[in-house]
Amino acid sequence: MTPEPRRVSVLLPHQLGLLTYAAPEALAPGLVVTVPLGRRDVIGVVWDDAPDPTIDAERLKPVRGVASAITLGDDLRRFVDFVARYTMTPRGAILKMVLRSGEGLVEPKPQMALRLTGAEPDRWTPARLAVRDALAAGPLARKALADASGASAAVITGLMKAGVIAEEAMAREALPAPDLSKRPDLTADQADASARLRAIVEAKRFETVLLEGVTGSGKTEVFFEAIAAAFAAGRQALVLMPEIALTPMVTARLASRFGIVPGEWHSDRTPAARVALWRDVAMGREPIVVGARSALFLPFADLGVIVVDEEHDQSFKQEDGVIYHARDMAIVRAQAAGIPVVLASATPSVESRINADRGRYERLVLPSRYGAVSMPHVEAVDLRRDAPPKGEWISPPVRAAVSETLERGEQALFFLNRRGYAPLTVCRRCGHRFHCPNCAASLVEHRLRGRLVCHHCGHEEGRPRVCPSCQGEDTLAPCGPGVERLEEEARMLWPKARTTVLSSDLAGGSKALGAALGAVARGEVDIIVGTQLVAKGYTFPNLQLVAVVDADLGLENGDPRAAERTFQLLTQVTGRAGRVHEGGRALLQTHAPDHPVIQAMLRGDQEAFYREETEVRRQGALPPYHRLAAVIVSATDRAEAHGHAAALARTAPHGPDVEILGPAEAPLSILRGRFRYRLLVRAPRATPLQDIMAAWLAEVPVRGTVRRAVDIDPQSFL
Ligand code: ADP
Ligand code: ZN
Repeated sequence: MTPEPRRVSVLLPHQLGLLTYAAPEALAPGLVVTVPLGRRDVIGVVWDDAPDPTIDAERLKPVRGVASAITLGDDLRRFVDFVARYTMTPRGAILKMVLRSGEGLVEPKPQMALRLTGAEPDRWTPARLAVRDALAAGPLARKALADASGASAAVITGLMKAGVIAEEAMAREALPAPDLSKRPDLTADQADASARLRAIVEAKRFETVLLEGVTGSGKTEVFFEAIAAAFAAGRQALVLMPEIALTPMVTARLASRFGIVPGEWHSDRTPAARVALWRDVAMGREPIVVGARSALFLPFADLGVIVVDEEHDQSFKQEDGVIYHARDMAIVRAQAAGIPVVLASATPSVESRINADRGRYERLVLPSRYGAVSMPHVEAVDLRRDAPPKGEWISPPVRAAVSETLERGEQALFFLNRRGYAPLTVCRRCGHRFHCPNCAASLVEHRLRGRLVCHHCGHEEGRPRVCPSCQGEDTLAPCGPGVERLEEEARMLWPKARTTVLSSDLAGGSKALGAALGAVARGEVDIIVGTQLVAKGYTFPNLQLVAVVDADLGLENGDPRAAERTFQLLTQVTGRAGRVHEGGRALLQTHAPDHPVIQAMLRGDQEAFYREETEVRRQGALPPYHRLAAVIVSATDRAEAHGHAAALARTAPHGPDVEILGPAEAPLSILRGRFRYRLLVRAPRATPLQDIMAAWLAEVPVRGTVRRAVDIDPQSFL
């Protein structure tokens, strides 16, 4: 009989998840190991779970060996377990996100270089002398030496054999350490907030801090102090940004403050750069990473603080694959690691504000703009009274204000959160509308590119000259405005002004966008027409007037977060006016000047908005008072999708602690050719929602073309 082998659990980074192997030696959790799987060898991580004792000893395959000097710490393993449980995703899928640049597990082969040993050859030929001269200044790689000396491979090999030159591994250039000597003169409010943050970072304990302050109040300066405290303690820092477009600004400021170039982690970086950064982070060589949400899964060796900038931004929610909210999971990671997390925003999410008000988070407030520039004056333009001419979108009062602004040599911004030329195209004769063939959505005209585009699936077609339905010529009409159409109107009204559109459709990607933003900042543009892209982050010193073309857009779409989103967006975009000079102004074109959101904007009364919205959430049993989860069922056939959703509804758990609403056809009822239904689950905070849902969903197996996605804490209700 074979002796009972030592057993170990290994988590594989895919669906198979946890498997039990035989361990030739004791293997601590967190070790990265190579294990056999079928006929291949794969990478896995020794996990904390007890191994399966029931598998026959003879059938157990042995761990092949340790695969990396890098190990995954306790905190990271706990984090993986939590995210998997919380998002109802197999653990292997979460581990895969951690190991995604897993090539970084193996130390890259060091670059080899040749150096002089000091030994003398039997004689110095001219070629050998050339080699000696080339190496006089220091070691060179073989190719560089051949180029510099002109010596043949045979000469170099000969000198190596004779021991005159020797090969050695070139030391990897160390990353420079952060320079902590620079400290800005903080205002009293900033100094108070910074002192508090520094103390929490130094104490190395978990705490969620909501850092709230109007745009330009110095939140960034203040969270830099938390980062400085982490650096001073020899720990690493992570800054999560909602959008790649915002990272260059923060990295530039970090570089000037700390004298180092932070590691950037996002989808624009090359795979090689990611592998190198992944490894540097794991080895503790990289002190700071600025990144998009997936940076949260990096294997930091010793993380000291996490900052989530613009914490309210919905881009932190990943909506496909593993559905998770990076802000919420950042809090989980901080808790697992026993470190603080700083949530920074001028307009915190209502959830975060309520959590702060209830004492779950510590709230630090910076009440005023740095440099004594006051907030812009916000006014409403009542479109019911001051309507623009038919077929136009700029009302007379806005027109007058823009003209005055331009006369003073200042910039004006039109804000409209709609890409393209027109959101809908119809035939004036037969009423034909252009819809996406794959989605229940109209095609958006992009006139610059001459295309009709679906913003949900990316389908594109050319804009035809005749109506495909009635063959009418010149009968197709754009309905409603997009930024391109507004630009056309602005050019017509102010032909001498330099006008530009800023939206994510800008040809040339993030580079072109950077250039365009630079031109605006330098005052080379008079009128900017922009989508939400311009709402964030940038400072345009000469921008004094912001006109919101449709302040009601988004208020009436029935989404529980509609009011919050609109308030945040309006606050952000109006806050672009008068950042540097006094006298900033914002005009909101609206049909509902009495709406609470518009009223809060006009009075500059953010607290009124949060009070009102807190009440709505409490009375509506909405987050954070209750928890929500969505189940989205889709299939290529409507009846199939509906059948599965209805079966779920029939087996839904009943009781005081869960409530299941639906199924209802999703507002976006067809997406990429799949019919969609939604169910919404609501439960009190203390309910073990995921456990109840797991038991429920297991009863209705997924068959045929049905796909089922679970979205815990949904942000989007489409
Ligand atoms: P926020 O992140 O709240 O929008 P920032 O930190 O970006 O604010 O500050 C706005 C501007 O004011 C920045 O240009 C910043 O460098 C400057 N600033 C803020 N506080 C100070 C300070 N104490 N000393 C010097 N400049 C400051
Ligand atoms: Zn589509």
